[in-house]
Amino acid sequence: MTKMRVIPSAGISLPEPFSARHLIDGTWRDSADEAVSERHSPAHANLVSVAAKGGTSEAQAAIAAARNAFDAGDWAFSSGASRAVILLKVADLIEHDLDRIALLETLESGKPISQARAEISGAADLWRYAASLARMIHGDSHNSLGADMLGVVLKEPIGVVSLITPWNFPFLIISQKLPFALAAGCTAVIKPSELTPSTTCILGELLTEAGLPNGVANIVLGFGDPVGETLSTDPRVDMVSFTGSTGVGKRISAAASGTLKKVSLELGGKNPQVIFPDADLDQAADAITFGVYFNAGECCNSGSRIIVHEEVVEELTQKVVALSRKVPFGDPLDPSTQVGAIISPEHMEKIDSYVQDAVADGATVAIGGAALNVDGVGPQFYQPTVVTNLRPNMPIAREEVFGPVLAVLTFKTLDEALSLCNDAAYGLSAGVWSKDMSTCLSFARRVQAGTVWTNTWMDGFPEMPFGGVKESGQGRELGRYGLDEFLEVKTLQMRIGDTRQPWVSSE
Ligand code: NAD
Repeated sequence: MTKMRVIPSAGISLPEPFSARHLIDGTWRDSADEAVSERHSPAHANLVSVAAKGGTSEAQAAIAAARNAFDAGDWAFSSGASRAVILLKVADLIEHDLDRIALLETLESGKPISQARAEISGAADLWRYAASLARMIHGDSHNSLGADMLGVVLKEPIGVVSLITPWNFPFLIISQKLPFALAAGCTAVIKPSELTPSTTCILGELLTEAGLPNGVANIVLGFGDPVGETLSTDPRVDMVSFTGSTGVGKRISAAASGTLKKVSLELGGKNPQVIFPDADLDQAADAITFGVYFNAGECCNSGSRIIVHEEVVEELTQKVVALSRKVPFGDPLDPSTQVGAIISPEHMEKIDSYVQDAVADGATVAIGGAALNVDGVGPQFYQPTVVTNLRPNMPIAREEVFGPVLAVLTFKTLDEALSLCNDAAYGLSAGVWSKDMSTCLSFARRVQAGTVWTNTWMDGFPEMPFGGVKESGQGRELGRYGLDEFLEVKTLQMRIGDTRQPWVSSE
């Protein structure tokens, strides 16, 4: 095995299991049948949480609470200023509870504690940003329709929204949705992943503490079947906002079509970075390493394939391999760890099978390529891995591996690089590395992706919209476009004075 920087057990004592329950109409509840599911830490194998496992009746009760809260109008018609006060309070409470939330996030997901802390702090910033948007909601006025007519376009909250989230960034992703929905005046039913329910429940505690009225945000714990499906089909829900896999996204879209509810989808990606010979190869190598190993590659934005000009592919690959050897992976509770555990044994197998299938098909593993048992921690770790000698049609070069595995492809011309990028089902994000701005801008204009980075990777800001094209999704989160997703347009046309010509002649 290649020598790597493995971080053994930090020897930190683990907290008592968290008890996660549904939050319905302001009350914390177990499931009627008392069903629960247990979550063990992917890194340490200890029991982290015991969560109520909801069924159709819990999902329906939560939808009813959200519907009643919306239709009562108190929240939907409250002023943006008063909604902003609550959102700002939530941001303060998140920061106050950062240690507790980050620890649970790490224990349930396996991500490094330093990255969990950054995630929670970034989430607090999203709540603050959404608070600023709550005071900016406005439509248009039309005073050019004639002297006796005034037109006004109102932007109103869309209604009851289902927010369904994945396990890879549980607290961040709910914070990309919920504060924007609340800023718009919507009410919500939230379903976190069955693998990571706890930090969403802590958020529920903070919402109550911040003074959010009962029923405005409800949480139902459980699996896609039946909770997620009920949230996608129930006619009392006006919109589903989903983040997760493309396969489930398609199912939700089909399920929601029965009631024609609005659907917004943030799905998978196989995000390319194209590296030209004139790029700063050291900076590119560092960003590539970050892009593929951040969150152990369990990241929709993972820079999981690089397309490198033939002239520099050897030099760049060597640099990435050297950095891969140095990147500290192991116990997520050690503050120096940068790559943590893999979410589940099944997912470990999936990651490894992509690598082994590629090798059987002629690929070369430049570093990594196997699981690793970390001393004093556990076996659910996958080595930082770089795979070369690939053909573009191999699954490892086209599909979302969702692990710390980099696929290296090569190109000769900009056109060839673009066709490799665009010949993909996905279109979430893409990047280009060159000192020539014309090269960067030509690439940025022609690549099919929701986000393009030039000479950087995976920067993100609350102000900048995020989302995908093709099978990476529909709709946008963040920025003012993220707020618009939760608003509906209403047209108001008003006649001024008694000027209407009769339709039926009085003669
Ligand atoms: P997943 O699709 O398996 O599950 C996501 C959520 O959907 C979970 O809460 C799950 O319980 C629920 N669900 C499952 N079946 C359902 C159904 N039939 N109806 C309704 N809900 C259902 O995804 P995952 O494994 O949790 O997350 C990983 C995936 O998420 C990856 O593909 C990744 O790329 C994607 N992702 C995308 C973004 C983005 O912003 N584009 C961000 C993070 C993750």
